[in-house]
This record gives sequence, structure tokens and C-alpha cells, in this order.
Amino acid sequence: MDNILNLTLDELKLWMKDNNEGQFRAKQIMEWIYKKHTFEFEAMTNVSKSLIFKLKDNFYIGLPQVKEIYVSKNDDTKKILLELNDGNLIEAVLMKYKHGNSICVSTQVGCRMGCKFCASTLNGMVRNLSSGEIISEILIGEKILGERISNVVLMGSGEPFDNFDNVMKFIEVVNAEYSLNIGQRHITVSTCGLVPKIKEFADKNTQITLAISLHAFSDEKRKQIMPIANKYSIKEILDSCDYYINKTKRRVTFEYSLVKDVNDSKEDAKSLAGLLKNMLCHVNLIPVNEVVENSFKRSSKKTIDEFESILKSYGIEVTVRREMGTDINAACGQLRRSYIESQDK
Ligand code: SAH
Repeated sequence: MDNILNLTLDELKLWMKDNNEGQFRAKQIMEWIYKKHTFEFEAMTNVSKSLIFKLKDNFYIGLPQVKEIYVSKNDDTKKILLELNDGNLIEAVLMKYKHGNSICVSTQVGCRMGCKFCASTLNGMVRNLSSGEIISEILIGEKILGERISNVVLMGSGEPFDNFDNVMKFIEVVNAEYSLNIGQRHITVSTCGLVPKIKEFADKNTQITLAISLHAFSDEKRKQIMPIANKYSIKEILDSCDYYINKTKRRVTFEYSLVKDVNDSKEDAKSLAGLLKNMLCHVNLIPVNEVVENSFKRSSKKTIDEFESILKSYGIEVTVRREMGTDINAACGQLRRSYIESQDK
């Protein structure tokens, strides 16, 4: 049995053809699922009984179960803990903005990148999510909100470019007119810097926003907090970003999580500005979310403000991430981890 959410329209058309059904049926089924949020084949009233029977014999509609919903007191943020078909847990975050609803999705169960400040990676990677499992996070999110989700960020647990093919398929489907029709400019994919994949992504020539988790201005510093820095240098990352910018004419976002006494000094800010000064980019400063398993502390408000003004004084476009949901463990991987631990006790 296959999860029908893993299929593109063309793949479902092919299945219809192989099963002696009209190919137009594929679009009908897709629309039932993605536009009308109908998650049972029986409820698809314009589909013949015999096709429903065949569909049920071959496919299931793989929605995860909602285990918990945590609602933040501070803002319109909800963190959801989801159980996949095989019992694995993932998390997603729903955020309400004036311009619409946004979701932060996970792309893997756990992560193997080993960033020192991140909770997702503490127990390593369990497995990749399929494209349909990533899409199902949005379907469940829309069900919970009772509203359309118009923005997607791939910034939950997992490294999207370590699950490249499934992530690209996910993007193809959510972007498609027959499905959720979420515009490429409303999708952001974040990577810790897998250089060959950044180039491969650039070659796809999309309008998707590329975000790079930089977090340090030098390789030496970066290696202290991100093991991936031993594999790819900052120069290689920036070269691949230039390649992306040339291909797509799109601004790249650099994420920089500020950690007290690690990467938040004035010198850090000046060196970062020097590194990025000629680039079409935007810097997103993220006050680090403290995780109990490590000793990294958040920089003070004053330090964050100073860091921001130094970057600005060098003409770098910068924003400080509005903090949402810090009271509900909204940082990557924190929720799944705390849930698993509470079950172990
Ligand atoms: N693996 C991808 C996407 C996931 S995380 C990546 O590395 O880009 C989204 C962002 O949150 C990344 O920039 C990540 O480094 C950062 N992050 C992870 N844990 C954090 C924490 N505890 N505090 C602040 N930022 C964190």
C-alpha cells in the first residue's frame, strides 16, 4: 500500500492509465484531497464505486495523528506534535501573521547534522520523511486552523538537503495548481550548507527563498558549533550562494543564531559584515533558544541590538527574528524530545 500523498499528478495519471481508468480522474482525486480536504476515498462522490474500491486496495491517505497541540500564550503560535504511520514523532509550528498563515515543517525524523545548539539532532537521524509526509504536516495544519496556509518554511527538524529528492518532490506538489498552490516565493528552504546540493538546487532555477544557517563568520568558529563546517568551508558556501543568486536573481537569507560569548561580540558583527558586504543578502538574527541539554545561553537584548546596528552600519539588511512560541518549546526538535523523555520516565 502506498501513501497517495507521495504521488504527483502525472504519477497518479499513469496509475489511472495502467488501471484502465480515465486519466482525468487523477485531477479529481487530487482536488478532493488538497482542495476539499477529503481524506476518505468513500467520500469522493463523483468517483465510481469500482474506482474507489481499486484506490482503497492500492493506496491510503497518509495523514499523521495529532498527539498534542500546544498553544502559545504570547502570540498566535501553535506547536503540533504528530505521530506518523510507523509511530515516529515529528513536530511542526503554525504561525498566524497579518499576511496569512505560515507553517514550519520538519523534513526528517531527527537530524544527523549535529549542530551543537540544536535539539533536533541530539539523538541523531531516524529516517527521512517522504514528500507526502511533509505535505501531510500542512494538511493537518490547515485542518487545525480551519484556514488556508499560505507560507511554508522548511525549518523544522531535519536537514532538507540531506533529504533532497523527497524535499524537491514536496515542493513540486505543494506549488502545483492541482494541489495547495503555494507560490514559490512563499516557500523558504533552510540548509546548514550542503554545498553540492545548494548548486543542484540553484540549477532548478526556482523562486524559492534559500536560507543558509551560517552562525559564524570564520570556519574556525563555525567548526566549534556546526560539525558540517569540517566538510564545507564558508568560502565554498558563499560561492555556491553566488551561484544561486546569479541563476535566480534572488536574495539569499543568512540565519545567525546569537549565542552568548560564542558568536555575539562586536568583532563577530564587524567580521560578518565584512564577509557579506557585497552580497545580495539578508541576515536574520535569531536569539538562541536555550536547550536544557547544552550550556549555550542567549545573548542579552543589548548585545543583540548592538549586533544588529553594526550590521546595519555596514549596509547589511538585517532583521531580528520575532520570537514566537518560546513558552511552548518551539525551537527545533525541543517538543519531540521533551515528549519522548516524558514518556520514558
Ligand atoms: N537543518 C536546517 C533547517 C533547520 S533549523 C538548517 O540547518 O538550516 C532552522 C534554523 O534554526 C537553523 O538556522 C538552525 O541552525 C536554527 N536553530 C536550531 N536550533 C536552534 C536553537 N536552539 N536556537 C536558535 N536557533 C536554532
